[in-house]
Amino acid sequence: MHFDFVIFEQLFTDKMSIMLFPVLFIEVNGSSHEETTEAIERDEFKQKLLEQFGYKLAIIDATKTIPDEELEQMVVKNIKDAVPSRKDYIVHCPVCKKPMIVKKNKNHEYFYGHEFKNSEGKYCPGINISDIAPLYDGIPVEGK
Ligand SMILES: [Zn+2]
Repeated sequence: MHFDFVIFEQLFTDKMSIMLFPVLFIEVNGSSHEETTEAIERDEFKQKLLEQFGYKLAIIDATKTIPDEELEQMVVKNIKDAVPSRKDYIVHCPVCKKPMIVKKNKNHEYFYGHEFKNSEGKYCPGINISDIAPLYDGIPVEGK
């Protein structure tokens, strides 16, 4: 199966090795796609398959000529909607005050948590990622 673009999130594990997690798949539908039944069915199949694994597919319609700025806005919006990028955003645990990292749960949802147990031998409760304001690498954030 082919995807036009895949955006990965780079996370550091506890052993300081790097792991790449695919977070967003992008299909750019050019004139070859047009509105053929086959192309539509293929996109729907890809979308369903990715959803099963908790991933998102962004489809960008490039069949019409649009200005570069408009295309850029479209791409940025898709990324902001789908990719939580908070690498430079240190979130401290409200319980033990140590930095938390972005993790994924069994349902492929992002949350802040620890790789380690706290001094009481327990895992601190995770924080829902949507409760923390997002930052996006390389994408200007309003007011910044
Ligand atoms: Zn903690």
